[in-house]
Amino acid sequence: DRALVWFRRDLRVDDQAALYRALTGARQVFCAFVLDRDILDALPRADRRVEFILGALQVLDEALRRHGGALIVRHGRAADEIPRLAAELGVQAVFCNHDDEPQALARDALVAGRLEALDAELRTFKDHVVFERRELMTAAGGPYGVFTPYKNAWLRKLDAFYLGSYPVERHAAALAPSGLARGVPTLANIGFKPAGLSPHVGQGSRGAEALLDDFLDRIDQYGRTRDFPAVKGPSYLSVHLRFGTVSIRRLARLAHQRMLGGEHGAEVWLSELIWRDFYHQLMHHHPQAMTAAFRPEYDAVRWETGPQADALFAAWCEGRTGFPLVDAAMRQLRQTGYMHNRLRMVAASFLCKDLGLDWRRGEAWFAAQLLDFDLAANNGGWQWASSSGCDAQPWFRIFNPTTQSEKFDAEGRFIRRYCPELAGLPAKAVHAPWERAPLQMQGVDYPRPVVDHALARARTLERYAVVKTRA
Ligand code: FAD
Repeated sequence: DRALVWFRRDLRVDDQAALYRALTGARQVFCAFVLDRDILDALPRADRRVEFILGALQVLDEALRRHGGALIVRHGRAADEIPRLAAELGVQAVFCNHDDEPQALARDALVAGRLEALDAELRTFKDHVVFERRELMTAAGGPYGVFTPYKNAWLRKLDAFYLGSYPVERHAAALAPSGLARGVPTLANIGFKPAGLSPHVGQGSRGAEALLDDFLDRIDQYGRTRDFPAVKGPSYLSVHLRFGTVSIRRLARLAHQRMLGGEHGAEVWLSELIWRDFYHQLMHHHPQAMTAAFRPEYDAVRWETGPQADALFAAWCEGRTGFPLVDAAMRQLRQTGYMHNRLRMVAASFLCKDLGLDWRRGEAWFAAQLLDFDLAANNGGWQWASSSGCDAQPWFRIFNPTTQSEKFDAEGRFIRRYCPELAGLPAKAVHAPWERAPLQMQGVDYPRPVVDHALARARTLERYAVVKTRA
């Protein structure tokens, strides 16, 4: 009895559910990853995520080799490559972890059907979140739609079982040293160019380890620091959670233990990990909300369209709106593939409620740019900001981008980092340069505000009024 482990968003050996199940269930276990053309062919030729994945595969291959196995990497359509490999290797089962994105589910159903025709089966497991799918339901038996009760139920249900780690190493003897493994291809091998991945991101599970070490030294400060983009407050682990180069169970266990020990920072951080689970279970229960408003009445909102709206959208993408905090955020995204959480909220709110543009346009830009892009979290974040989501920001609450800037980047440190043309302005002026330092701004290549916030706010309240009548 032979098995194949198909790695997807779980690029690690430690505490990996499908790998553990295969090792304990089969005599010989092969490991594979498919650089899926269905996904890759749609990307621009330079994409940081492709670079991140290849780096992570390298570390994964090394780890498997240390245990006597090796990683087979194929470049093609996953739906073709996995059944083909299963046939070549003569395996009876392919093991993988759940990926609940609608497109991934469709792909997996196709693969399962093709395997069945080969007399093999696709066996899938929970690995990506602590609680998934229907594991946490309300007393009435429905899915949770409000975060706080969900979080309370999550914490109540949590015990050592759900946080336990899979002792993969103990069973590593079943790993097959595959002759089909020819090393991880380079970017050039698969037709990509370097995109400039920041070294801070770290390579695969080794990089995650370094970031985690660093974060654990300051996790007690997290509650105080997490909202200030100029400060090293958050963990920067999102890309590692996205690609599974770190185990969510391990992170939740660390945070939970510290929380029980009375550490406030760890408690706040655990709450963020619970938001992640929350958005994943929402995606499972409401796949239609991945393209439409979670609250259908919000699809009656009429967004700005036409050439002027397109120009505003371009200014937003390029970080040239004339609102320094928004611009600094959008430039951080383009230059690094990361954006601080506070800034994601500010930039998203600005798109919907200051520019009057459909949240889906912003969502798509983030999806293309974010290294940690994750459909469930990104859609959840956007629908929170546009007020169309479940448990979202109320529609009449509208961030003032200048006030947000004064509050969360008071000295303008973050702004100066990404908008160096404003570096010479005093702290007071940096949040609204044209208004507060017009003379100093003469000759500075920085745009005037593309909208007037007070007017935009009034228009947005009118725009969203349709919701009141339909709700
Ligand atoms: P930390 O503050 O260290 O948080 C730890 C982890 O908790 C994160 O790595 C992430 O996995 C999870 N997390 C934190 N906040 C959230 C949240 N609000 N929702 C879901 N999970 C959360 N996160 C993504 O991982 N991918 C996305 O595509 C994404 N898009 C977003 C879009 C918008 C408009 C908004 C408002 C938020 C989005 N987030 C997304 C959530 C959040 O901004 C990022 O997870 C966070 O900034 C990542 O940085 P970190 O790892 O340093 O976070």
